[in-house]
Amino acid sequence: MLVIDGSYGEGGGQVVRTALAMSTVLQKPFRLENIRAGRSKPGLSHQHLSCVELMKRLTDARVVGDTLRSTELFFEPKKTPSGEVEIDIGTAGSVSLLIQCVVPTLHVASELKIVAVGGTDVKWAPPIDYLKHVTKPVLSQFGIEFDLDLIKRGYYPKGGGKISLTTRDLTLNSKSIDCKKPQKIKGVSHCGNLPRHIAIRQAQTATKKLKKIGLPTEIEIETCDVLGKGSGIVVWSQNGCRYAGSSLGKPGKPAEKVGEEAAIELIKQIKTEGDIDKYCADQLIPTLSLAGGNYTTTEITMHTKTNAWLVNQFNEKNKIKIHENQKPPKITT
Ligand code: ATP
Repeated sequence: MLVIDGSYGEGGGQVVRTALAMSTVLQKPFRLENIRAGRSKPGLSHQHLSCVELMKRLTDARVVGDTLRSTELFFEPKKTPSGEVEIDIGTAGSVSLLIQCVVPTLHVASELKIVAVGGTDVKWAPPIDYLKHVTKPVLSQFGIEFDLDLIKRGYYPKGGGKISLTTRDLTLNSKSIDCKKPQKIKGVSHCGNLPRHIAIRQAQTATKKLKKIGLPTEIEIETCDVLGKGSGIVVWSQNGCRYAGSSLGKPGKPAEKVGEEAAIELIKQIKTEGDIDKYCADQLIPTLSLAGGNYTTTEITMHTKTNAWLVNQFNEKNKIKIHENQKPPKITT
């Protein structure tokens, strides 16, 4: 049986999600030790536990160690994913990360509906608009198609955001991503239970900064009703390589600063060559391992290296290789 050391590399929650996904597709049980040993509060948090719960319910898995702060987990799927599951993370834990562990399994899944409650726009995780407008279009190049609906936004600390994912039969394609230069910038600037001018000021500052790169920029303004309060912005490149910049508001942080941070992050990505940005590059590793293919990225992160190390243990026949010294760095099978 595959025994994985969760302290390797990044030593974070991604190891849990990727192991669940690879185990489900390849129907290989695993035991994970030293879970999130690299984090200040090791073991499974609410978000990771919800990922285990989701995959357990979709695959009728036999699971041991699925308790809060557990540092060991055994998981054995009994079938490929199917059914309708509603999961409430119970905190502002990211629903995008919950979706991250099911996405690489969609090509072996039967009809599926997932409704998830938690944070949609929270730190250290893909904002929901990033998942929708960056990760999802890249995944569709590999044949992974799904519908993702944002029902309600959820910010830190109250959470309460809601999304739904539905899928249909699909076939995984091997893919060599070869993108063209982006043609325009799109974005969403949002605020919940805060005056509309906050979302407008975030968008105006981002648009002003983005003028430097000379691409048409269109940022949608959204005000919403949420639990608590919050704001954020995501800007992304359209028609070509997929890069994004994002930022979140917090008490005392000017709206202008939020808009500026997102724009600066996107400009930095656009100036660096690569098919996809550094976040998408780590998120795509399980799919690349299963489908085959290659892509270049703007930067190789520890998340990417750790994910590659992990998928290679599950899928020894189609190992991922990272060509870090190539310009731009390339990831291949
Ligand atoms: P931990 O609490 O242990 O850090 P985690 O489950 O919250 O665990 P990580 O293992 O650090 O998270 O994984 C975070 C994931 O979120 C990665 O896939 C990373 O690419 C993605 N991510 C983080 N920030 C962003 C961002 N600003 N935009 C897009 N994706 C992001």
